[in-house]
Amino acid sequence: MKLSNDENRAGHQRMAEELAEWGRQWRLEADMVRCPYCHSVQIASQADRSFLHDSACAASALGEQYPWRSLAWILRSL
Ligand SMILES: [Zn+2]
Repeated sequence: MKLSNDENRAGHQRMAEELAEWGRQWRLEADMVRCPYCHSVQIASQADRSFLHDSACAASALGEQYPWRSLAWILRSL
């Protein structure tokens, strides 16, 4: 599929915004994704499991989260 320049630019802009949002929720450290609030981590091979926050972490109220899948989805157009 060939995208027009405008579509391409819009896609890159959206990717940048989604990446910035992802970066507010997660920290990528070596082979782990870390929650910046409770400091729990998940390695990429656990990508199909919901992220486990500490029970007191405010982010645990957000429901099931799959940060690796989210990252892969955000970067899908690369
Ligand atoms: Zn957390």
